[in-house]
Amino acid sequence: MADELVHREVPSPNWNERNGEAISMVVLHYTDMLSADEAIERMCDPAAEVSAHYLITEEGEVVRLVPEEKRAWHAGVSYWREHANVNGRSIGIELQNPGHTNGYRAFPEAQIDALIPLLARIVQDYDIPRANVVGHSDIAPARKSDPGELFPWERLAEYNLCLPSPDKLELGDPFDNDGAFYLALERFGYDISNGHKAVEAFQRRWRPAKIDGEIDGQVRAILFQLLLDRDRGLTR
Ligand SMILES: [Zn+2]
Repeated sequence: MADELVHREVPSPNWNERNGEAISMVVLHYTDMLSADEAIERMCDPAAEVSAHYLITEEGEVVRLVPEEKRAWHAGVSYWREHANVNGRSIGIELQNPGHTNGYRAFPEAQIDALIPLLARIVQDYDIPRANVVGHSDIAPARKSDPGELFPWERLAEYNLCLPSPDKLELGDPFDNDGAFYLALERFGYDISNGHKAVEAFQRRWRPAKIDGEIDGQVRAILFQLLLDRDRGLTR
């Protein structure tokens, strides 16, 4: 499958079957080791019981370790959007980088240039939502910090391969809390061209005990809860 994007095969024994779970996520990692060879060796060591589908060296070489249809062991204890243990539904890509304990450094251009077409092909093949292209730290925040703050998410976002950072969106003044509330209210469904009236309408429906058009803590909490419930699929 799209072998022109893969430069080398180094089969790892560290995988099992996916058990029918559809692939719907990509998890990006750094290797946390001094060299790519060291990382490859570890991911091929049966005793280590870790692997990933791909490793991309700092020079931009793409090494395949586990076929995509198999379940590689990269995420460990993890959680994302209602699903625990994401290995069964994800593809794992390791990026060579010494990591925070061994001299964390920027990801070279060549490495990201190799990642982008591979990721684009994966996202397209499995129709993976942008919100499901994540870092290891996103799905295991208590244990992990890779690929870390130097990872250029904005380059991926340029190709529509992950969610863009909010500061690139038109959110208005982030310190204007009322502005943020109105945007959330609009997202929920209300026409906010007359903000005060929109808040009154919202109160009339959801907090009829006090209809004053003022954005108080209770009103914020109610809207927040409504949006959370809808995002969780409890409402639609
Ligand atoms: Zn990781």
